[in-house]
Amino acid sequence: MFEHVPAYPGDPILSLNEDFQHDPRQNKVNLSIGIYFDDAGALPVMGAVREAESALLGSIGPRPYLPMTGHAPYRDAAQALVFGADSEARASGRIATLQTIGGSGALKVGADFLKRYFPNSQLWLSDPSWENHRVVFESAGITVHTYPYYDEHSGGLRFEQMLDRIKSLPPQSIVLLHACCHNPTGVDLDDAQWAELVPVLQQRKLIAFVDMAYQGFGAGLEEDAACIRLLVSSGVPLIVANSFSKNFSLYGERCGALSVVCESADEAKRVLGQLASRVRANYSNPPTHGARLVAGVLNAPALRASWEQELSTMRERILAMRKRIYDGLNGHVEERLLTRYLAQRGMFTYTGLTEIQVERLREEHAVYLLRSGRMCVAGLNERNVGYVASAIASVVKST
Ligand code: PLP
Repeated sequence: MFEHVPAYPGDPILSLNEDFQHDPRQNKVNLSIGIYFDDAGALPVMGAVREAESALLGSIGPRPYLPMTGHAPYRDAAQALVFGADSEARASGRIATLQTIGGSGALKVGADFLKRYFPNSQLWLSDPSWENHRVVFESAGITVHTYPYYDEHSGGLRFEQMLDRIKSLPPQSIVLLHACCHNPTGVDLDDAQWAELVPVLQQRKLIAFVDMAYQGFGAGLEEDAACIRLLVSSGVPLIVANSFSKNFSLYGERCGALSVVCESADEAKRVLGQLASRVRANYSNPPTHGARLVAGVLNAPALRASWEQELSTMRERILAMRKRIYDGLNGHVEERLLTRYLAQRGMFTYTGLTEIQVERLREEHAVYLLRSGRMCVAGLNERNVGYVASAIASVVKST
């Protein structure tokens, strides 16, 4: 019966990660997958999360189903973090927020909602974007296009071309934007560029769908969400998918949220109901454990302060690694391959290395990057950064 089913070629990032696990070489370095590792190369358990979890385990109780919209204290805390505790839109009850299965779940529920209520709308992604964006939206039946974004040569942004393309989109088109720490390039819009883009979205009657998977990894929790605050105050129709996978180091707990900013509390209530109906159709309701952990940290002032502190340490460690690899490569590679380590932000850098160079790094030096040249800077540490820099320098020199 199932004979005709073809083999799944696999997800390129996850497959590469598996190859890394099977690589027997002692000096191997994994800079492929988008995970934050600490300086010892371990996946951290954040102190505040550990404390919240101990408290939770001490008071284990019954586990009923959560509502389709999720755990109420979690939804509220997620909304406050994304939009600001004192947001006007929040106070007037016009943001519909629901718990989702990670940031990916938020994208899928949002995509299903858009397909149902904006059946003729098509979506535009940055070129390039996180590979799964296209998969998620296309699998919801939405036609996906791209807008110019990354400048291959300089390692910067093609802002004018991006703006021109967005200016040409029909009304009700959906524009997917990364709030901060763009995946895969590490290239973000600066404040002036956001200020130029937002009125275009508004005048063209476009729908902004902002994906925020790295809040706190760019410049800070508030700073990284500044574009969202600007979009809300400018009245742009806005949908936000956010993830706690990285900033809580809770990858496997699948904690995310989806928010739709509406014009009134009444509209938000109806939208929330329809989002819940998409959850019901997909997986009925979300899981409890991770949501209780995140809410437990965000809603307890001492734990929250500890979490914020630890998150800043993570952010600063990434910045320190950016500086270390820059220093290690300085004088060994041309300027355009160098400056990007300091200019790009967040967990990723597009190194500008060619596919052949990436392959040679893996084969000859056991250093794993994505084929596109994307490096997860958060996989560097004091022990491997020097080795990685000399491996890159040697590959660049001899190709
Ligand atoms: N959006 C972007 C840009 C991402 O990089 C990721 C994860 O890598 C996600 C969404 C998905 O997040 P989650 O793992 O919470 O589903």
